[in-house]
Amino acid sequence: MLRQYQALKASYPDALLLFRLGDFYELFGRDAEIGAAILNITLTSREIGKGRRLPMCGVPYHAADAYVAQLVQAGHRVAICEQMEDPRLARGVVRREVIRVVTPGTLPDAAGRDRRYVAALWVGDQAVGLAMADVFTGELRATRLGADSPVEHEVWRAALDELVRLAVDEVVVPPRLTDDPRLAGAMRQTLRAAVTRWDSPAWSPDGARQTLRAHFGTATLDAFGIEAWPEAQVAAGAVLQYLLETQKDRLVHITTLQSYDPREGLAVDATTALNLELTTTLRQRSRKGSLLDVLDRTRTAAGARLLRRYLEEPLTDVAAIRARLDAVEALAASHLARRRLRDALQGMPDAERLLGRAGTGRATPKDLLSLRYFLERLDDIRRIAAEAGLERLPALEMDALGQPPAPLEALADHLARAIADDAPAQVRDSGYIREGYDAELDALRRGAEEGRRWIAGLEGRERERTGIRSLKVGFNRVFGYYIEVTRPNLKLVPPDYERRQTLTGAERFVTAELKEWESRVLEAEERIRLREAQIFQSLVERVLEQAPALQAASRAVARLDVAASLADLAVERAWVRPEVDEGPVIEIRQGRHPVVEAMMPDQPFVPNDLYLDMGARRLAIVTGPNMGGKSTFLRQAALLVLLAQMGSFVPARWARIGVVDRILSRVGASDDLASGRSTFMVEMSESAYILRHATPRSLVVLDEVGRGTATYDGLSLAWAIVEALQERGCRTLVATHYHELTELEGRLEGVFNLHAAVAHGEEGIVFLRQIRPGAADRSYGIEVARLAGLPERVVERAREVLAHLEGSAPSASRVAEEALADALVPDRETAPALSEPGPVGTYGGRPASRRPRPRARPSVA
Ligand code: ADP
Repeated sequence: MLRQYQALKASYPDALLLFRLGDFYELFGRDAEIGAAILNITLTSREIGKGRRLPMCGVPYHAADAYVAQLVQAGHRVAICEQMEDPRLARGVVRREVIRVVTPGTLPDAAGRDRRYVAALWVGDQAVGLAMADVFTGELRATRLGADSPVEHEVWRAALDELVRLAVDEVVVPPRLTDDPRLAGAMRQTLRAAVTRWDSPAWSPDGARQTLRAHFGTATLDAFGIEAWPEAQVAAGAVLQYLLETQKDRLVHITTLQSYDPREGLAVDATTALNLELTTTLRQRSRKGSLLDVLDRTRTAAGARLLRRYLEEPLTDVAAIRARLDAVEALAASHLARRRLRDALQGMPDAERLLGRAGTGRATPKDLLSLRYFLERLDDIRRIAAEAGLERLPALEMDALGQPPAPLEALADHLARAIADDAPAQVRDSGYIREGYDAELDALRRGAEEGRRWIAGLEGRERERTGIRSLKVGFNRVFGYYIEVTRPNLKLVPPDYERRQTLTGAERFVTAELKEWESRVLEAEERIRLREAQIFQSLVERVLEQAPALQAASRAVARLDVAASLADLAVERAWVRPEVDEGPVIEIRQGRHPVVEAMMPDQPFVPNDLYLDMGARRLAIVTGPNMGGKSTFLRQAALLVLLAQMGSFVPARWARIGVVDRILSRVGASDDLASGRSTFMVEMSESAYILRHATPRSLVVLDEVGRGTATYDGLSLAWAIVEALQERGCRTLVATHYHELTELEGRLEGVFNLHAAVAHGEEGIVFLRQIRPGAADRSYGIEVARLAGLPERVVERAREVLAHLEGSAPSASRVAEEALADALVPDRETAPALSEPGPVGTYGGRPASRRPRPRARPSVA
C-alpha cells in the first residue's frame, strides 16, 4: 500500500494527497505535517520498517469537504484519492486512483450564490488572451484585451484589471509568466486570486484549438466568435484542458464558449468598481454594505449570479437596456404577478449547478430528484409568466423555458417515473429507483423479496418441525443468518443443523437450505445495487444530453428572478424607470444614493439634482465643507448611471441618462501601503489612467485630486487635470478643496460650480446635504474641526493663524487669479465642442436665466 501511495504521490508532487483508507482520508509524510498544522488535528506516525516512522494524520471521509476547503483556503492544492473497488472483494491492495484535484478555483462553495472562476491568462505578441470558467455552472468565456494599445504595460494592466474586476479565484498561467520577476510581482500585488504556474502543451495555438474542437465536437471554432482572436483561443483551450485534468471528467455540461469584448459594454475598471463599492466595500471588503447587497432580492442562486453579472457588465446598447427596463416595469406594475412569481421561485433548485455536478461525476440520486423538482417548478413559472403576459417581453427570452411537449418535458417525466421521492444523497445506497421503471430491476427485487420471505417464515416452520418453542432465526455480520437454540433444547436439534457458534446459554446453527437462500438474497441485493447504479448512470447521461436546454431554461428563470427582484426593490423604495437614450444629457431630479439611503433608514436622505451634458455644462466643480455631502453626491451620480445601464430602476424622482461608455473614478484616499505606493502616487497613477481612457462619452468622477502634496503642487495638478478633462469633453464631476478651481467657471467652456450648502446655527455650522449652484463661500475647515471635537483652545489658535495668513500672505486664491488664470487658461472658448451641446444652462430643471451665463474670457493684463 505504501508503494501504491508513493507512486500516486509522485504524480501529484505539488498537491497534498488525501489517500482514502476505509472510512478515513489519510495524509502521509510531509503532507501530513502540513495538513495537521492547518487542520489542527493530531499528527501520528506509523512504523514502516527498519525503525523508520512515517508521519500521518487523517480526517473522516464524511466530513472531508470542510477539511479540503480549509487546506485549499490555506493555499494548497488537494488531490483526492479514492478506493476504486470494494475492499471486501479486492484481492491484494485495493485499487486506488486520484479522482479529482481541488484547486482554489474549483473549490465548491456551499451556498452557490457566487460563481467560482478559474481563469487562464496568455500573453501573445499582439494582445492578451483571457478565458474564465466556472466548473460548477459550466460557464466558459473568453476575450482578448489590449489589441488596440501599443504600450505593453497597458495591455498587461488591462488583463490584470479584468481579472480583478471579475473577482477571479484562480489564475492559471504558463511558466514564463511566473518566471518573469516583473510580471510575477505585478500579479502578486494586484490579484487577490491564487496564481497557478502550469506547465502544459495546452499553451499553444494548436494544442488549444485541438482541445476546444475535441471538447465541443466541432470542426472549426467559427461558432464561438474567436477565430480572429488567437490569444483568446489559447486561453480558452488552456483553461478547459486544466479543468479536464483536475476534474478528471468529460465536463459535458460545459456546452459552449462565449466570447465577449469588454469594450462593448459600459466599462468600469477595477479601481472604480471598488471605489463605488459595487460588490464589496472598500474597507472591509465585505459584500455587506455594497450596492450588490442592497440590490439583491433574488430568490434563486442562479438569479443571484445573474444579478451580479448585470452589475459587473452594464450595457451601452439603448435598445437592450430598454428591453430590460420593460421587464422590470411589467413586474413592478403587477403586484400579484410579482408575488406569485417570487413565491414560485423561492426554493427552486439550481439547475445549472446540478448539471455541473452531473458533468463532473458528482451527481447523487437526490440531485436528480432536485432536477425533477426544477422541471416541475418550471411548469408553474411558465404558467404564471404567461398569465402575467410576460412572454412578450424580449429581455426575458421566455422561449427558453421550453414549450411542452419539449425534450425537457420528456426528461421530467422520466425522472418522475424513475427516482423515488426519498432519494438519498449517496449513489451507494439502493432503493431509490421506483418500482415499475425497469423490468430487470423489478425481477431482481422480486427474487430478493422471495428469499427474504422464505427466511422470515423459517422461524415458524422450524419451531413446528423441531418442537422447540424458543427457537429463533437471527442475523449477524460475521455468520449471516443463523438458527439459535437455547441450551435446554439442544437435545431436540435435528441432524441437518450444522453448529456454527456457541454462546453461554445457547448454540447457533445453520442449514444448507438456509445458506442457499441467504446467498440468493445477498446476490440479488448486490445485483440490485449494480442495476440501480446502471440506471442512475443512464439517467445522468439523459440529463447531460439535455444540458443546453436545461441551461437555457435555468438562465430564463434567472432573468425572471432578477427582473422580479429589481421590481420588488423599485416598488418598495420608490425608484423610477430612467429614460435612457443616446443623447448627451445626464439629468437626475431628486436623486438619492441607493446604499447610503438604505443604511440610514431612520434619517431622511436629502435628495439632490444633477444636470450634465457634453457641452455647455459638462464639468462641475463641487466645493463645500468636509462632511458636506460632496462624495456622496459624486458617487450617487455614478451609481445611478450604472444602475440605469444595467437595466434597473433608479432612486430618484425622475432621471434621463444619455448612455455612458465608461465610468472612471478617483475617489477617496486608498492608500496602497502593501505595494509601497503612497496616497499621492496612487492618486496620480489613477488620474493618469483616467486621462488616457476618458472619451467624450465617459463619466468621470474625481474626489479631491492633488491632495497628497504641497498646496501649490496639488492645486496646479488639479487645475491641469481639470483642463485636460474639459478638453476631452466628457461629463465630469470634481469635488475639491481648492477653492481656486471655482475660478474656472466662466473661463473654461462647459465648467460650472456647485456647492454643498451649510446653514449657520447656534452651535456652529449645520450640514444641509443640499448641492446647490455656485461656489461655496469658504471652506469651513475650522468649523468642521470644532464639530469633530478638536479642543476649543486649538480651534481658537487655528482661527488666529488663519487670520494672520490671510492678512499677510497673498492667498492661493489670489495667486490663481493673477498668475494661473493668465498663464494656464489658453483660448479655449474658441475650441470646438466635442459633441452636440445639450439644452444650455438648466440646473435641476430650473430655467437657465437664473444661472450666471459663462462670462467671456476676462482680459488679464
Ligand atoms: P464630503 O465628501 O463633503 O466630506 P460625504 O459625502 O462624505 O461628505 O458625506 C458625509 C456624510 O454625510 C455621509 O457619510 C452621509 O452619512 C451623510 N450624507 C451625505 N449626503 C447626504 C444626503 N444627501 N442626505 C443625508 N445624508 C447625507
